[in-house]
Amino acid sequence: MIEVTNLTRKYGDAYAIENLNFTIEKGKVYGFLGPNGAGKSTTMNILTGYIAATEGTVIINGHDILKEPGEARSCIGYLPEQPPLYQDMTVREYLDFAAELKGIDKEKRKQAVDEAMETLVLEEMSGRLIKNLSKGYKQRVGFAQALLGVPEILILDEPTVGLDPKQIIEIRSLIKELGKKHTVILSSHILSEVSEVCDHIMIISKGKLVASDSTEDLIKRMQPVTILRITAVADSESVEKAISGFEAVTECLVEETDEPGVVSVEVKYDSSQDLRMKIAKSFTENGCTIIEMNTEKATLEEIFLELTAEDETVSTEESTQMEQELAESVDDFLNEHGYGEIPEEQAYGPGDTEAEALSDFADELAGGRDRISKNVSYEYDDASEGSEITAESTEGQGEEELSDDGNL
Ligand code: ADP
Ligand code: MG
Repeated sequence: MIEVTNLTRKYGDAYAIENLNFTIEKGKVYGFLGPNGAGKSTTMNILTGYIAATEGTVIINGHDILKEPGEARSCIGYLPEQPPLYQDMTVREYLDFAAELKGIDKEKRKQAVDEAMETLVLEEMSGRLIKNLSKGYKQRVGFAQALLGVPEILILDEPTVGLDPKQIIEIRSLIKELGKKHTVILSSHILSEVSEVCDHIMIISKGKLVASDSTEDLIKRMQPVTILRITAVADSESVEKAISGFEAVTECLVEETDEPGVVSVEVKYDSSQDLRMKIAKSFTENGCTIIEMNTEKATLEEIFLELTAEDETVSTEESTQMEQELAESVDDFLNEHGYGEIPEEQAYGPGDTEAEALSDFADELAGGRDRISKNVSYEYDDASEGSEITAESTEGQGEEELSDDGNL
């Protein structure tokens, strides 16, 4: 029904969306999920022919949106993020005007407007000026405009933004209802909204599609899982035996540690149950002695945030500059503390991160006694505010010690 291929839109040198590929099938409700600035509106404006793509194609029911805009657009009803409402028109005048723009024949226009007003329960407002309507009613007028002529495909850009909770519930149930007759593409930055309303979710982040799956599968894939990390005096066979009875366990990894006879175990299971006590008991029964245990949970919300998180990788150019700056500040630090310059051979080797290089060097200086660098952080004057590079280890963050909540 809609085929999107290699869709890219640039503003200057910046990519608003980059190389999007997806297919929209008839009769489903699709959620376009992503944080602000992800590229949702840009994509929708291209799908509906409001702006042109820099590269790529959009085919709607066999019609290229650029080559046959009339045919392609006639299948679509679009509710833009900011619908162009004419404030000094009444609701009926505006919808009549919008129907004319859409090319609906004069004799069919009144019926089309009546139907759209009925669906959006706007009849009582038909004589009101748009400027005198509440935000919720204005949104409904925009919605009615999209529905004129009963298009096969409805494209709705953040239709619930700015509405109060009651209006949000109304609009969501309306979308579900419309989904029975139309193919709907809806954008939102709210995870719970798309998972409630949509059959299929596409997650967009920084102009790229990072996930696309049926809502059911995506939720299953993102089902909150508990990761239980155990250090125990045991061998892998007994650990496997201890875990084997638990059906909820989806994964169990056993690894030897540096200490002889001590293994580290990672067990994953769905978070709807708490298996900590039972697993601990089973370990004991199988002759495994737990010396440390902690848990970590990942929720759907966290996974969405992770998928759409700020991209922290830096360009090669930036990273070279950062390395130089770091090297200079290390020199300064060492000079200040009377260590002299870093010898040439201590400069970063290929693949060395600054933290590793610094840590190696500190080891060298301290004769391997203390990793002095671990407590040192360097700040740049010209880096973005509050940004700092620290050699400190971040290991163990975000873990919840079992002993803290008194269960072991
Ligand atoms: P979303 O709808 O997901 O919030 P948009 O599609 O509006 O995201 O924007 C995607 C990116 O494109 C953003 O970084 C935004 O700043 C940029 N952008 C959008 N429109 C323009 C424009 N007219 N000129 C320059 N940059 C734009
Ligand atoms: Mg937007």
